[in-house]
Amino acid sequence: MATMAFCSNILVTGANRGIGLELIKQLAVKMGGEAHIYACCREPEGPGAEALREVATKCPGKITIIKLDVADEDSMSTAARTVSEKIAAGGLNLLINNAAINKPASPAPLSATTKKDMMDVYETNVVGPHDANILVSLCVPGNKMSCRRAAIINLSTMVSSIEKCPETFSTAQMYPYRTSKAALNMLTRCQALDFKNHNILVAAIHPGWVRTEMGGMRNTVGGLVGGCSLSQRQGTPWSGRQSVTGLHIQTNS
Ligand code: NDP
Repeated sequence: MATMAFCSNILVTGANRGIGLELIKQLAVKMGGEAHIYACCREPEGPGAEALREVATKCPGKITIIKLDVADEDSMSTAARTVSEKIAAGGLNLLINNAAINKPASPAPLSATTKKDMMDVYETNVVGPHDANILVSLCVPGNKMSCRRAAIINLSTMVSSIEKCPETFSTAQMYPYRTSKAALNMLTRCQALDFKNHNILVAAIHPGWVRTEMGGMRNTVGGLVGGCSLSQRQGTPWSGRQSVTGLHIQTNS
């Protein structure tokens, strides 16, 4: 398997299960020897992080598990301090804002949605990536914009697309989730403009449908990999680099 030698320090939020965990697994295999992965999760010692701890044990020296609740400002500051101390002069090359929630459970029609659902989902899915800006100070911008230097990737979704709403609404109403991810797209666009002068690349991607706790059970083509299906509805393998299917990618490049 080819290795990717360009990124040395990568931070992923929500890394204990689902897409986040699978990203850690694949990055650990594909990254070169110098690379280090900061795998963030809410409860590093808890049962929900057992799979992540196993991956870290299998890759000694490559993965550091960091406690981070993206909805908690203090937790974000503490995590940023910890990473900053560990990272030393190396700097952060890639920040993947992956952690998110979807409540109430799908299909979440308007009648079943409360103000608390709206607020909770916004706090995690939008304020979390916003507050992760504190980590951007750890990024090392180069003289040319490149994901080899410094990049922020926000995990968005096709159901946040206003243009595609008439096609996706009937199957998944999900008011809090959709609106939060639409706001995340705007956050991404603003960050992209803001960080352009520092040559920090910012992009939002839709990973395609992936069978996870959030993605739920649908008819899939293909098998399970580590509890996380890498198959999409269209049957194309999820590469982790797939840009977007129908969602306009928000980027400053
Ligand atoms: P999962 O529900 O499987 O995993 C969500 C992850 O986010 C878990 O690790 C969870 O940790 C973490 N998380 C939730 N809240 C917080 C918080 N406050 N602080 C830190 N971590 C938190 O979701 P997926 O893996 O399916 O989704 C990952 C990303 O991809 C999301 O941004 C989602 O919107 C996006 N996406 C997913 C699609 C899919 O089909 N699955 C499709 C399109 C986009 P914990 O165990 O502690 O709850």
